[in-house]
Amino acid sequence: MSDPTILSGSSLNTFIECLDQDQLREASVALLFWSKVDKGGECWLWTGYKNGRGSQYGVFHRTKAHRFAWESLFGPIPTGTKILHTCDNTLCVRPAHLTPGTQKENMADMIRKGRSRPHGKRPLTEDQIRAIAIATGRQVDIAKQFGITQAHVSRIKRTPNG
Ligand SMILES: [Zn+2]
Repeated sequence: MSDPTILSGSSLNTFIECLDQDQLREASVALLFWSKVDKGGECWLWTGYKNGRGSQYGVFHRTKAHRFAWESLFGPIPTGTKILHTCDNTLCVRPAHLTPGTQKENMADMIRKGRSRPHGKRPLTEDQIRAIAIATGRQVDIAKQFGITQAHVSRIKRTPNG
């Protein structure tokens, strides 16, 4: 077995038998979480329930999905700490694209990346197009979030690859 983190058959059974009730519950919740994530691209996109005006975030068990992803790997997030997206894709839950910061840093980051300009002229990345294709809610809100027109959102939703 080249990858020791991949367990199967009897080794998986032995692993599960060693867990107590809390650990088992935690493991099954984590499995459920990652089953709702599309890892098809550079960004790992949340495909479960989404919420938020303007920028959309994934929601899982009353927690923002990207915060859940961070906590599942690194432990509880200190009070007042924001988990920021280095990829600028709010539906992304890939831990490698997440970094802790303060609200102040978040604002500075938004301004630097132009997320606060509703009609920025940056072309969409492949990951943003994937995120738009699975985004729920009003198309005008999605359009605002990505700085594109509602017609553009509609076009992406009809042909996600075009
Ligand atoms: Zn990402």
